[in-house]
Amino acid sequence: MTHGHTIIPSRGFCIYCGKRDVPLTDEHVVPLSLGGQHILDDASCHSCADITKKFEQDVARGLWGDARISYNAPSRRKKDRKTHIVLTDAHNPSHKVKVPYSEYPAAMLFYKMHRAGLLEGMPDTLDMSTGWQLVAIHDDSKAKTFEERFGIPLTSKARHVPESFARLLAKIGYCNLLCALEPSDFRPICLPYILGARPNPSFIVGGNFKISEPEPDKGYVLRTTGFSSDDRLMLMAEIRLWSNEHTPTYHVVVGDVVGQDRMAAVLNKIGPIEVSEMRPTATAIAPHLATDSHWTPTIWPLPFWIGAV
Ligand SMILES: [Zn+2]
Repeated sequence: MTHGHTIIPSRGFCIYCGKRDVPLTDEHVVPLSLGGQHILDDASCHSCADITKKFEQDVARGLWGDARISYNAPSRRKKDRKTHIVLTDAHNPSHKVKVPYSEYPAAMLFYKMHRAGLLEGMPDTLDMSTGWQLVAIHDDSKAKTFEERFGIPLTSKARHVPESFARLLAKIGYCNLLCALEPSDFRPICLPYILGARPNPSFIVGGNFKISEPEPDKGYVLRTTGFSSDDRLMLMAEIRLWSNEHTPTYHVVVGDVVGQDRMAAVLNKIGPIEVSEMRPTATAIAPHLATDSHWTPTIWPLPFWIGAV
């Protein structure tokens, strides 16, 4: 995707529920709270915006609240921010220390995820997030400085919000694809998970369980990718947030396109993307499909009821 501030013109209807003739609000592809620069102009109705705002805030405040203040991340309410935090000494809980946020290198928490359930051939009722691992990403030298100065071990507090985190990734993947495609160009498999109409977003959101090297000067990296057979194209989003730190890369099954003509039209609009061709196979498990891409499915063809709308 392009770098810098980008505005995609409005479609005149809500990208989530399709409603027309209602007031629409701008939608950041990546939330402003994470430094998002790409905006879908007048894209969401108020009731859908209430839904997406809820899980965005869950992540921004619950998972990354302290880290965002420490790193001075953007906020609509920056002037209301607290200046200090009271920390408890992990070795001596009755000992509390008041620390300025500017000197508190709070860890950034992420989930390490396995592949999305759909790509593993799992039923959509199986919650893959029970196997996700919480990782704390922090700067060792800053942690050492902190511990020397304040005399307590560096600790971080956060709320465990796996479902909100996965829905946020699904939203980012969907909005990123809408920078190039119309909502009618593909079947939005991710949509019911974003809106909460279906439970268990770990069915369509996953990762490779690895932490990637930092990409300096890049706040986030979004990529459209996919895999296909002769007449079905699965559209995937690759997402990395806080990519200038040691952070994981995620994938989202955004949607699919059926039929050769429609596939060609979509690929034409998206531009050159990396699409792996998948040959339908008689066996459920096809080890020869394994590649380095973390989103490569272990089964093919995928069941066709997925995403039927
Ligand atoms: Zn709506």
